[in-house]
Amino acid sequence: MKPLTQVTLEDLTRLCISRGIVYPTARIYGGLAGFFDYGPIGAELRNEVLNDWWWYYVKRREDIVGIHGSIITHPKTWVASGHVESFVDYIVRCKKCQSEYRADHLLEDQGIKVVNPTLEELTKLLNENNIRCPKCKGELGNPEPFNLMFTTYVGPKKTKSSLAYLRPETAQLIFVNYRDIYISMRLKLPFGIAQIGKAFRNEISPRNFLFRAREFEQMEIEYFINPKKINDCPYWGDVKHIKINLLSAEKQEEGIQEHEEITAEEALQTDLIKSTWHAYWVVESLKWLWRIGLSKDKLRVREHVKTELAHYAVQTFDIEYYFPYMGWKEIEGISNRTDYDLRRHSEYSKVDMSMLDDGEKVIPHVIEPSFGLDRVILALLTEAYKIIDKRRVLSLSPRIAPIKIGVYPLLSREPFTTKAREVYNILKEHYTTIYDQKGSIGRRYARADEIGVPLGITIDGQTLEDNTVTIRFRDTRHQIRVPITKLLEEVSKYLKQPP
Ligand code: ATP
Repeated sequence: MKPLTQVTLEDLTRLCISRGIVYPTARIYGGLAGFFDYGPIGAELRNEVLNDWWWYYVKRREDIVGIHGSIITHPKTWVASGHVESFVDYIVRCKKCQSEYRADHLLEDQGIKVVNPTLEELTKLLNENNIRCPKCKGELGNPEPFNLMFTTYVGPKKTKSSLAYLRPETAQLIFVNYRDIYISMRLKLPFGIAQIGKAFRNEISPRNFLFRAREFEQMEIEYFINPKKINDCPYWGDVKHIKINLLSAEKQEEGIQEHEEITAEEALQTDLIKSTWHAYWVVESLKWLWRIGLSKDKLRVREHVKTELAHYAVQTFDIEYYFPYMGWKEIEGISNRTDYDLRRHSEYSKVDMSMLDDGEKVIPHVIEPSFGLDRVILALLTEAYKIIDKRRVLSLSPRIAPIKIGVYPLLSREPFTTKAREVYNILKEHYTTIYDQKGSIGRRYARADEIGVPLGITIDGQTLEDNTVTIRFRDTRHQIRVPITKLLEEVSKYLKQPP
């Protein structure tokens, strides 16, 4: 039977809740919009993805170090970064039922796409299109700016001076610590600082499950470069031939929405990507997303059109994934932030943010690859969800599968169970392994398939005679028989993927 690929968000939500992957938080109280809890299987999946990201971008590279910053930091950070002033979306309230909506989402739901609209543009479009409250059809008020940062107070007094913010991005913790980091670690340009951690945005209308949450995890790198050497990338030769699906701002401005497949070098030569380091980070980002199992034809690189660019960016590309139930959506942004952040922090803190490079003082420019873990996980689940022979299978790459091996006695009694435990005890020291003896073997395989366990080891009658077991492969259901003495070697062939 051909696998079904048109998964819906409802299918995924149902699977996530029923199989311990993700739950809306505190379901006993009806949940809280925009907040999610990862269950036992989801927590493993998160760790696999985070650890692989950290390994790929931090541990194996000489030029990148990692930090772990605080969630609440000095509030001046957010004044200097521009978030206090301009990290806003526009909200509209229904005059009748008081429901609140994000103004651009209301337009988007009517097929009217707006990119970073001004307050005036939004007001005009809402009026012109006679947009009413989706719930009660009541009249809507005028849109108003709404700052997305969550606030709190530090210490017992709730005063203006104790007001603080939960970080809306992890990046600023890298900028405020940049000086301490490069001095203490004796870093020389070019170098990167990476961080994985929570970010909080009080989204007006969180929706589409993990895609738009109010608390989520970012995986970010700020890569610092001497602006005079923005085209001097020593790794360029390794990536320039790689093909990417690119949709340029120019094409979008001409009304074209189809991407073209070109090499990174062609994108650079035709000036579609403005600097070598930026092009390098676009490809390097895609390489990791491919590595964890997202397919090339479902990933594209879309340039921000002028009106969409954030206040700090001169050029930005979004890596978008094709979600069959939402279309192309951003899972990572790669911005050229120039020296904007370091200059602003220098201005507000009065601390010199320059460093020496080739005997000259420079304020480095920054290329920022910024991934959202939860969106990457949603993409992975979307890609992996298949219906094979009427049964749900999560076809996750063995590299990031939450559980790598299931061990099953064919019958749930002695001597099968003792033998199966012996096999489990060998494997669990090397791979995340589960032991399952509950229910029929068919049910156990099905349960494992639903959480994406790539390999199943079955202990049967023949095992008791000749010490061999079967290895079942999740995606093909093909089975092979191997001696227990060779089992580790055999599973490693499949599970230990090349770096
Ligand atoms: P959007 O336009 O969809 O709101 P953004 O452009 O504001 O996203 P960035 O500020 O570039 O997002 O954040 C970097 C990454 O953080 C995004 O690519 C995304 O993966 C993740 N992210 C941002 N907002 C959310 C959210 N509300 N829920 C989950 N992940 C998010």
